[in-house]
Amino acid sequence: MGWFSFTCCEDSTMVFIELLNERYARWKDLVDFRYFRTLKSKNDMTDLDIAFVEGAISNTREENLVKKIRDNCKKLVAIGSCACSGSPANQRNYFDKSTKEEIQFILDRFGHRDKVSALSEIIKVDDTVNGCPMEENVFLTKFDRYLREFGVIA
Ligand code: SF4
Repeated sequence: MGWFSFTCCEDSTMVFIELLNERYARWKDLVDFRYFRTLKSKNDMTDLDIAFVEGAISNTREENLVKKIRDNCKKLVAIGSCACSGSPANQRNYFDKSTKEEIQFILDRFGHRDKVSALSEIIKVDDTVNGCPMEENVFLTKFDRYLREFGVIA
């Protein structure tokens, strides 16, 4: 699996780390954490079974990377409200005209897109776990389902 964070506060990542407190002993024999920069420094995103993607897409670098992730995984799951709907990371989409003009130089300097987008506006999303941060029980139920789906557990 891979775990990726884009524009957001990364609280769903923190929820996952908290889950590891009780589940790492079980998951370490079942799951290959192939890409998870919060957990390790050497990461490989090629040919993943499943990619969990947190956060909204706000700049062209993120847009290109999320497309690359999509090309490298069998299943892609949007994690948390920012990834699923764009909010609340997309607040600048709703700025008034003068505020937008005020921040335009920052958008230009850092290659930001005209708007901040949910993942599904850019790539195909196979599944979602909503919540801000993600709903823990929903994630755990789906995580077990994916383990079965990929033949890891019976
Ligand atoms: S959905 Fe909420 S918790 Fe998750 S990254 Fe966005 S603001 Fe943070």
